[in-house]
Amino acid sequence: MTTEQNMVSRVIPVDPFDLVIFGATGDLAQRKILPGLFRRHVAGQMPTDARVIGAARSDLSSAEFRAMARETIAAHVDPALQDAALLEDFLSRLDYVALDVQAGTGWEALRSLVRPDVVQAFYFSVAPVLFGDLAEGLQAQGIAGPGARIVVEKPFGRDLASAQALNATLAAHFEESQIYRIDHYLGKETVQNLMAVRFANILFEPLWNAQYIDHVQITVAETVGVGGRGAYYDRSGALRDMVQNHMMQLLCLIAMEPPWHFDPDAVRDEKLKVIRALQPVGRGDIVRGQYLAGGGGPGYLEDAGNPSSDTESYIALRVHVANWRWKGTPFYLRTGKRLRARTSEIAITFKEPPHSIFDDARGWRENVLVIRLQPNEGINLKVMIKEPGPGGMRLVQVPLDMSFATALGAEGADMPDAYERLIMDVIRGNQTLFMRGDEVEAAWAWTDPIIAGWQARGDRPQPYDAGSSGPEDALMLMHRDGRRWREIRE
Ligand code: NAD
Repeated sequence: MTTEQNMVSRVIPVDPFDLVIFGATGDLAQRKILPGLFRRHVAGQMPTDARVIGAARSDLSSAEFRAMARETIAAHVDPALQDAALLEDFLSRLDYVALDVQAGTGWEALRSLVRPDVVQAFYFSVAPVLFGDLAEGLQAQGIAGPGARIVVEKPFGRDLASAQALNATLAAHFEESQIYRIDHYLGKETVQNLMAVRFANILFEPLWNAQYIDHVQITVAETVGVGGRGAYYDRSGALRDMVQNHMMQLLCLIAMEPPWHFDPDAVRDEKLKVIRALQPVGRGDIVRGQYLAGGGGPGYLEDAGNPSSDTESYIALRVHVANWRWKGTPFYLRTGKRLRARTSEIAITFKEPPHSIFDDARGWRENVLVIRLQPNEGINLKVMIKEPGPGGMRLVQVPLDMSFATALGAEGADMPDAYERLIMDVIRGNQTLFMRGDEVEAAWAWTDPIIAGWQARGDRPQPYDAGSSGPEDALMLMHRDGRRWREIRE
């Protein structure tokens, strides 16, 4: 059996389900959720009696919704997967209900479609202001059964108070075990592999502490600006939009203690401890930036439609985890828009060997474990070897590369999108890769004072060139510690 056959045969259909997508005509549902569900169907993971019910404000018939789904699948799914018979079969499972949650219309039609005796999942792919009404409506209308699950999208609040209010609203209608807060970074194959690498190998864990790790860099760089969503972004900024959720989750997975079991609460308990151990970030530990016009694009202020905006499109931070394992090992986080390349990676830089027996110090570099999230998901470990050839003992650093595309054959090259994986986890009832309410609140509790500090001081972000690596001061943040950022490149 080839690797490919092996991988395919491992897809196990989930239990029969009804998935209701609120906001089914919106951008996220059209670009990610529906194409993702179709790919799971092609992979053989949707059971015969799985159904997907779109619900949104637009007055569409089910036939019109299916036509919409057909178009979005054609646009967003690899043509190699677009089997005509499978597509018809998938579309036949779709239904649509026009429902306006604020006006309170459409609930009865929805109730008549949702079956009580299958797994029920309700995906809230709508603006968070509607979450409360949706949660209430699902219970008040007698649609959600006792085992129903709700999936909520980001942003989960914009500060601690709003996140607490949202948690309280959802908790009034659903148990924590029914609430799936999506952070799609956790659905990425490499992110899960980070846990496999740490906890399924003896190799790394003994070195995974401040004694052997010099520092950690987490980079999420984008080439695009805030473009069409400028007005929305301007109320958020890089700290709220990327650090409080996605980058914090990555940091947790690197820094957490081994959970006793790969079990949702065991994993989330350990992540929570990391967030609670984060030291408050001082003024000198943060650099904020705003991109300037350049490379044919407008600057941030123009994109945001707010000439006096002090929202950051870039942020770099030095973070310390105050516990025994990490005392003295800084975590450097940076994320920004309109940077030189689109790349997301975690780089763990180990310390120097205590003593070098070699005379060749020139070529010498530290070991680095690089976990690439995009593009080309994979993990590589940079190690020192002898430069080949007869020229004496010269050292050179080479990557031990594990690109998933190469290691896992066809399946690796076409890894499931994070959303596909996470939606299937919802149906399976597995919350491991979803944020628990207390985690989200703890992350805001750490973030709020940072923002309050900016506001109190009237801090303004520094301008940086579009297509660059970010503001100059971000380089200094590392230089002062005798370290350097890794180059931002694809
Ligand atoms: P969108 O504006 O494209 O779509 C909104 C959807 O909500 C539409 O289907 C609309 O019909 C429906 N809707 C609006 N008012 C309604 C009402 N009163 N009753 C019922 N339905 C109503 O939004 P989007 O970009 O798809 O985002 C949806 C959610 O996902 C938001 O919370 C957003 O923050 C989050 N999100 C989106 C993305 C993305 O890439 N688009 C990424 C991460 C998170």
